Amino acid sequence: MKVADIRSGVEMLGELIAEARVIVPFTGAGISTETGIPDFRSPGGLWTRNRPIPFDEFVADQDARDEAWRRRFAMDEVFSAARPGRGHLALAALYRAGKIPSVITQNIDNLHQASGFASDDVIELHGNTTYARCIGCETRYEMQWVKTRFAEEGCAPDCNTCGAPVKTATISFGQAMPEDEMRRAAELSQRCDLFIAIGSSLVVWPAAGFPLMAKHAGARLVIINNEATEQDRHADLVIHHDIGETLGPFVRN
Ligand code: NAD
Repeated sequence: MKVADIRSGVEMLGELIAEARVIVPFTGAGISTETGIPDFRSPGGLWTRNRPIPFDEFVADQDARDEAWRRRFAMDEVFSAARPGRGHLALAALYRAGKIPSVITQNIDNLHQASGFASDDVIELHGNTTYARCIGCETRYEMQWVKTRFAEEGCAPDCNTCGAPVKTATISFGQAMPEDEMRRAAELSQRCDLFIAIGSSLVVWPAAGFPLMAKHAGARLVIINNEATEQDRHADLVIHHDIGETLGPFVRN
């Protein structure tokens, strides 16, 4: 493991990127903090304010559903105002250059798509919070529909088609991981030659298994994060520094 300061880190990362044929980025909440969306675990992060509502509670309890939607509405301005940061833009440049086939993300904020990735090339392990789905028949609903129904009825709405609860299109704790996304992420992790974990505490499983899967399959592993992670010792290069500053030099217009 090589822990680099910002200057030599950027230089070494540039060399690894130049040598790589297939790069797979794996992103977490840390890539989006500079866009104004708080992460979960940093001071001031979402968990320091609210206990997450597990999936079974959401399904069983109207009050939990009302609370989940109130919290989501409270974040609406933040999500709507956020624009891709330097980390997103750097990855989008490498995607346009043909080095990155797809990005694997734990994020739910739609910012990789906003930076120029085709939707099919964003593998969302934890879904997307910018729209909603019925948890029964999976009908898609837009945020405005949910807001209007909530305002009219004074509570979290159910699906027009099947009557089951409507939830943000995210994966909550206790909810099954999306099979297709997990399969695609595993395939990519095993066929890349450079895997870059960016802004993730690497503690949420099974998503946190992909960096090691890539490493075991022969890829070089880079971890960029403000704080140490349990997987640093397996990485070829570790950069404990701000993501925007680290990836800023790779942004191309
Ligand atoms: P996390 O909050 O557990 O970890 C984020 C990590 O990023 C932390 O270790 C923190 O030190 C680091 N970090 C924050 N800002 C940084 C910066 N500017 N430069 C360098 N490092 C920085 O997030 P996670 O690992 O993604 O896992 C938590 C779950 O939270 C994910 O599953 C995701 O679904 C969800 N989440 C998503 C968003 C989003 O979509 N933007 C926001 C909050 C939580």
